[in-house]
Amino acid sequence: MRALLDVPNEELQSWLKARGQPPMRVRQLRRWLLLGRAESFEQMTDLPRELRQLLMEEYLPLGIQIARHLVAGDETHKLLLRLQDGQLVECVLIQEAGRHTACISTQVGCGMGCLFCASGLNGVARNLTAGEILEQLIRLRNLLPVDGRLTHIVVMGMGEPLANLDNLLQALEVAGSKDGLGIGARHITISTVGLPAKIRRLAELGKQYQLAVSLHAPNDVVRMHIVPTTEKTGLQAILAAADYFFERTGRQVTYEYVLLRSINDSVAHAKELAGLLTGRQAHVNLIPFNDVEGLPYARPTDHDLQAFVNELRRGGISVKVRKRKGSEIDAACGQLRRSSLKEEAQALAVGTGRL
Ligand code: SAH
Repeated sequence: MRALLDVPNEELQSWLKARGQPPMRVRQLRRWLLLGRAESFEQMTDLPRELRQLLMEEYLPLGIQIARHLVAGDETHKLLLRLQDGQLVECVLIQEAGRHTACISTQVGCGMGCLFCASGLNGVARNLTAGEILEQLIRLRNLLPVDGRLTHIVVMGMGEPLANLDNLLQALEVAGSKDGLGIGARHITISTVGLPAKIRRLAELGKQYQLAVSLHAPNDVVRMHIVPTTEKTGLQAILAAADYFFERTGRQVTYEYVLLRSINDSVAHAKELAGLLTGRQAHVNLIPFNDVEGLPYARPTDHDLQAFVNELRRGGISVKVRKRKGSEIDAACGQLRRSSLKEEAQALAVGTGRL
């Protein structure tokens, strides 16, 4: 059965019309899901009983099941979601300083294959639909107290957002609208491995979305070892597209840089990075590597991290180190899904007597 969030307005309207219902029902239904926090048709008490029955026979109000819900001591919530076809994705609610930030996924898995990232270890299975992207926001918002609302969105969960741009934009449109979730574009950050043509398209939308680019290295040689897409798309093409984004939107670009011990974390790397970004309206977000079981990487020592930061600052670059949130619940992208898949595989093996 299809979830209502994935049914286009026109289609829903004609379905309702065929059942003698006025067009305003579309808005009414959307309001229940987006603002009224309804998770079933029964809860939509101002709809005629017979209509609720018909809806129940045809559609699901929401289409995703919560497979696991973990809460960390710092109030970070993580949901492992089971989609209708059984696939698993993750999303996270991060709460600090009055902000309620949703971190959402755009694909099942990821096709970019960054070597340090848990999401891409098994490639990409499929794009999420606009409804599935939107439902992550609704599910996370429904965790907040009744008067609470999401203030920010970071598209930094599983998947490469710009590889699923149409569906993402459709979902963000609803998230941003006043009769949707009301989250302003300036509070929405889209993070990409660096797909220049799509960055340019984003620049031309006339929206105020924030762009974050995953640089991870100060030159193509180092980047090639950890971000395989570098072979096709070198840093210069990515930076040129990001510059264009800044020219068109006036929005400062954030460059993300995962710090991996002895791979890209030396003072020389920092110096080269500062050189690359000098003259650009850029901000650097350093992310010390989050452990992924089975991967041969480590975070830098505190000393090396500080030296890296100091060197960037000396070069006049604005820099922040990303704080670790919800580490005890595998909050980094793709990790919970991975451990869950592993548990399932083990359970299956037990069931079939293979362990
Ligand atoms: N595909 C998008 C979104 C990825 S998730 C992109 O490439 O930007 C957001 C950020 O987390 C990216 O910069 C990604 O490289 C980084 N990341 C992935 N795995 C990580 C890990 N194990 N530790 C720290 N950062 C990681």
